[in-house]
Amino acid sequence: MSTHVDTATLHHWIDGAPDAAGSERFGEVTESATGQVTARVPFAGAQTVDRAVRSAAAAAAAWGQSSISQRSKVLFAFRELIHAHREELAAIVTREHGKVLADALGEVQRGLEVVEFACGVGEILKGDMTPGVSRGVDSYTLRQPVGVMAGITPFNFPIMVPMWMHPIAIACGNAFVLKPSEQDPSVSLRVAELWAQAGLPDGVFTVVNGDKEAVDALLTHPQVDAVSFVGSTPIARYVHETGSAHGKRVQALGGAKNHAVVLPDADMELAADGLVSAGYGSAGQRCMAVSVAVAVGDCADPLLEQIQERIAALKVGDGTGAGVDMGPLVSERHRARVAEYVDAGVAEGAKLLVDGRTLTVEGREGGHFLGPTLFDDVRPGMRIYDEEIFGPVLVVVRAESYPEAIALVNANPFGNGAAIFTNDGGAARAFEQDVTAGMVGVNVPIPVPMAYHSFGGWKASLFGDVHIHGPEGVRFCTRAKVVTRRWADPSHRGVDLGFPTAG
Ligand code: NAD
Repeated sequence: MSTHVDTATLHHWIDGAPDAAGSERFGEVTESATGQVTARVPFAGAQTVDRAVRSAAAAAAAWGQSSISQRSKVLFAFRELIHAHREELAAIVTREHGKVLADALGEVQRGLEVVEFACGVGEILKGDMTPGVSRGVDSYTLRQPVGVMAGITPFNFPIMVPMWMHPIAIACGNAFVLKPSEQDPSVSLRVAELWAQAGLPDGVFTVVNGDKEAVDALLTHPQVDAVSFVGSTPIARYVHETGSAHGKRVQALGGAKNHAVVLPDADMELAADGLVSAGYGSAGQRCMAVSVAVAVGDCADPLLEQIQERIAALKVGDGTGAGVDMGPLVSERHRARVAEYVDAGVAEGAKLLVDGRTLTVEGREGGHFLGPTLFDDVRPGMRIYDEEIFGPVLVVVRAESYPEAIALVNANPFGNGAAIFTNDGGAARAFEQDVTAGMVGVNVPIPVPMAYHSFGGWKASLFGDVHIHGPEGVRFCTRAKVVTRRWADPSHRGVDLGFPTAG
């Protein structure tokens, strides 16, 4: 249930300034811990998107010509500003998303690391050169900006996921148009102010708020050259197909159902710590959350005992509160959806060991809370196994052996992250080699790569062929050009209609 307090009306950020013109539709932004509506967010239509993209295209032409030195000055200044404002930014995230402050600060930090990677723009844009590919002929590669890049991002990491994209896009000389989640858009507008303060020219970073209408306008706009999307699998597939059909390069990261396999030789305390942290952190609203634990052989009972002990010690409440481990879900609609999955798990015969559905938080009765929930005896074919729940629900599947466990993981349509808990190096190596997922943890439950590696899943967790940030992000944000050159040399004279070969 949502109640109204004094609400702010948000805006877009176009041409280096707040822009409130022309919106007829608005959405509501709520504070997740209380359910109160705190802001109205304008939903851009095709005209507003067109204005934003035209401004970005004009800015891209000039920014693409800027020197590496000019870009790195802006990036270093932006890095300092994000760092200086990290607590303010985290507080905005906690208010709208609901995750606890320490978690929001962690999100800001992981975004900042991408900015730091992008600060090395001189290094990351270095091409390669081969002198003397033929007599007196040299070849080298240039990486040039793509032009206007759009980013469409989910609610669950409102500052970090956009930062997987825009610092690198901008370092590579592109203009970037962000369409953040309509559920927690405020932090993106603050980031836009900080880019401006860092000296970024107007139009190089733009924010258009909105929903499907704004997304469709970006996906079909002739001046948008590339699209990075992060969100759920059905929308990722749609964005990939629609953007590609309109001639854009597209990378679209989708949903997940991350498995952690626990072998009987594992350190059970470490495994239980990892599963509880990765299962319930951010109330399970992480694309790298562990949502399935596969307990192999006879380890299920001791593992479940340790998990339950840890769940009993978790404090759920307003993310701004001291000592709170887990906050609310992002919206009442999402809370109700997660509760329905728990109902379905019970109806389909899974064993409900911990039930979070009845939890209330005193003084925060309007908040979107659902407590940590744990199921045992879960099997493929049950909705709680087959579908992404994206809430604080950890399901345990029992497997007789490692081959049965890896077959289960690999049969799952998602392939974002996967982890194994074991002290057996051979088993860990086999898992690394065998598993069909893009990011693998060995005794690490949430193997989110650092900014200088790339992030991305396999199968239904990513459409497109390039992962995000790190070296693959640079590849996505640039177009390669290979130059072959020679200077007047008498030995090159003479007409020759044969296909050129090196001599
Ligand atoms: P979502 O797919 O509902 O929304 C993502 C973005 O798409 C938002 O900006 C939204 O406005 C837009 N959108 C929504 N419906 C649309 C439609 N019909 N047409 C066009 N655009 C539309 O995702 P969400 O609920 O905001 O975020 C949670 C999902 O994101 C989960 O599935 C999670 O696994 C996934 N996620 C994946 C990663 C990853 O790296 N693979 C990272 C974070 C989140």
